[in-house]
Amino acid sequence: MEILSQRGRARLCPSRKENENHEDTKNTKGKKAPFYTTAIRYNADVVAYVAEAIVTGARRYGEADRLLTLFTRDRGRIGAIAKSARKPKSSIRGATEPFIRAKFELAEGRSLSIVRSAEILNPNLELREHWTRLQLAGHVAEIANKMSVEGVPDPGLYDLLAKAIEQIGEGRIDAVAKFKVGLLDHLGVFPDLTGCSECNAARVKGNVHLDHSRHGFLCSECAELLHVHYPVPMKVLHCFHSLRAGKDFDLEDDLLDTADEVLNNLLQGFLQAAFKTVSAAKKARTAEREKENSNRKAMEDNNVEP
Ligand SMILES: [Zn+2]
Repeated sequence: MEILSQRGRARLCPSRKENENHEDTKNTKGKKAPFYTTAIRYNADVVAYVAEAIVTGARRYGEADRLLTLFTRDRGRIGAIAKSARKPKSSIRGATEPFIRAKFELAEGRSLSIVRSAEILNPNLELREHWTRLQLAGHVAEIANKMSVEGVPDPGLYDLLAKAIEQIGEGRIDAVAKFKVGLLDHLGVFPDLTGCSECNAARVKGNVHLDHSRHGFLCSECAELLHVHYPVPMKVLHCFHSLRAGKDFDLEDDLLDTADEVLNNLLQGFLQAAFKTVSAAKKARTAEREKENSNRKAMEDNNVEP
């Protein structure tokens, strides 16, 4: 096994001997310039590489294999096969579970990469103990998968996803909304929150209206004139302000639903496609919220002196 360095792929250059004589590989001082990426070459046809990735999709395949969608930091979303990963003694069994963040050693196959080994970076154990959190993680994973182009790196989106899955695992109710706000900002399509997108009037009070075609919010006068009716309470807009500033927020349950709906509409409008996990995520969020409220109530009751 030979560790190769620098740009280009081993596959592009059939042999090192040939490579040494190649004009492109010589720098101005006549020295050999390194030619390869951080790839490991097993033989002339197989290129292996190491990639940090989050498992954003996993399904059974064959007798004991798993087909994976890996959201890698440096190579974007890729498809991979983890052979024998479902066998009890497989060394890659744990790392190929959904939402695991791991360092994978992969070999390039014809259409799928092949998982050779994996080292778990974050097992997200807490996530695995709650069905609600698994649903929410599935929701952000679906959005990340749909927002990405196969094989095109998007480290910004990767970081947002990694953070969201970690926070969902910790039981942070606002993690999903934070992810969606961060994503809209990352895409550069977060609507202007400071004034009406039609007349620029600063909003005073009451509702504003979401206008898909202008990708912004309208004051109530403009909304009426333009026959747009999608009322969004100012409290929800304030929540978006807080989220963008990295601050925490506290919204009543129904407003939290409205905020999530608005964010989904903005993202789906941008993508021109619907997310399949919206209602499952809403159910999970409601259940998490109820559990949090009942825990809080139990703690308050315990603190009351008889
Ligand atoms: Zn207006």
